[in-house]
Amino acid sequence: MASSSRELHFLLIPLMSQSHIIPLTDFAKLLALHGVNVSIITTPLNAQKYKSIITHARKTNLKIQLIPLHFPSQEVGLPQGCENLDTLSSPELFKDFFLASGMMQEPLEKLIQDLEPKPSCIISTSPLTWTQQVANKFKIPRYVFDTISCFTLYCSHILNQTKIQETLVLDSDSFLVPNVPHKIEFTKAQLPFDSRKQSSQDMESILDQIKKSQYLARGTLINTFEELEPWYVDAYKKVVNKVFCIGPVSLCNKEMDEMVDRGNKASIDEHCDYLNWLDSIKPKSVIYACFGSLCHISYLQMKEIGLGLESSNVPFIWIIRGLNFTPQVEKWLRDENFEERVKGRGIIIRGWAPQVMILSHPSIGGFLTHCGWNSTLEGISCGVPMITFPMFAEQFYNEKFIVNVLKVGVRVGVEVSINSWNEEKNGVLVNMDQVKKAIDQLMDKGLEGEERRKTANELAHMSKKAIQEEGSSYLNIKLLIEDVMQVLKNKV
Ligand code: UDP
Repeated sequence: MASSSRELHFLLIPLMSQSHIIPLTDFAKLLALHGVNVSIITTPLNAQKYKSIITHARKTNLKIQLIPLHFPSQEVGLPQGCENLDTLSSPELFKDFFLASGMMQEPLEKLIQDLEPKPSCIISTSPLTWTQQVANKFKIPRYVFDTISCFTLYCSHILNQTKIQETLVLDSDSFLVPNVPHKIEFTKAQLPFDSRKQSSQDMESILDQIKKSQYLARGTLINTFEELEPWYVDAYKKVVNKVFCIGPVSLCNKEMDEMVDRGNKASIDEHCDYLNWLDSIKPKSVIYACFGSLCHISYLQMKEIGLGLESSNVPFIWIIRGLNFTPQVEKWLRDENFEERVKGRGIIIRGWAPQVMILSHPSIGGFLTHCGWNSTLEGISCGVPMITFPMFAEQFYNEKFIVNVLKVGVRVGVEVSINSWNEEKNGVLVNMDQVKKAIDQLMDKGLEGEERRKTANELAHMSKKAIQEEGSSYLNIKLLIEDVMQVLKNKV
């Protein structure tokens, strides 16, 4: 039995996707700061990619290791090297990806048998439902790590219970989420595909398993902080076992090189050009535009975003991730001489950018975001007001949270949730005028803009307090550790 946190060994197992691996590696650092031994289990390619984060953590004597476990991509017919959701070429491959991840159960069990110190618990993100069976086998508790907010978890729970959305006929039909203290209105078209009963059967069954497994876990960790959404935290605590709000986990990164390491092997030197440029610009005046790791955006939509940024006359940094950096987009940028046209005022970063590092720069004044939860929370903890550009999954929930609940953002005006992989069919969701209008509105120096900036600053301050020693999230991590020790004590 562990009598102190130093004898504990937590296994962290994220789904192989940036939006799961990144927050879980951040959380590993926060746990290790409490003296716990932490092992992150992931596949070889992901382990390679995130190695530098661990190397950095070890320099500061944190006891964290990354353990690679074979991912049977080829055994299930996935292409070689397909070990992360962002490498899937179509949503039909989801089923195979989850099949392959389930096949990691046996190797993981073998690994645990030989692991020292013996694992005390498993913390895995919600889609890895099979990790519950592993925990049961070794008689250790499993905690689910949720990468979405209590607001979204609770509102989706209400929809599940009331089925209110099933009464809608037209895409433009709308309803108010009942029994919540804010006016949250959805149209049918904004709901995720599963709520609209438009997911494939395979996807439905995966989502069903995830929901069921949530109730079997000993507790749920949520990357949020209590002061951010107190009503929804309390409400969700009545839905599942033991809720621990432990975020924003991204705030564990304090040094520049830690922020650069997050999912990025480049060194700080490679970022000097735009960092110097940012240093030369007035505080709170640059728009940072980034759309996460999974959104596939059509070429036509990319053009509208680019032209909207240009016509706004506001300085900007626009991240174009690998998948969206198609030959068509590259040709358009070249033919239009786009980068020359915006020279001195706009910068394009091709590929992966150190988002938290850029958002933390004092010159950043607005974040044009796809509203993934990690990005949303990173925007909040850096005190940056947001322009919301949701596209799929729970992103419209996050838009409503940013705009209607927190009041730190403006909508760009997307009305329809899309299939992320069908980019050309999705076409144009918003045009350049809408992008420009939203930027003007967000950067406006009038009363409304000032109010948004003030609230954003206050939330950033609250988020930092939550993660500091004796803050709510810090104390919740302590409670989690005590909970694990309690389970181990009862086992003896
Ligand atoms: N991210 C980053 N650089 C990029 C794109 C994304 O660091 O160029 C990080 C971002 O900081 C966040 C994660 O990737 O932590 C994306 O997660 P999110 O939940 O926002 O969106 P998803 O990728 O799931 O759509």
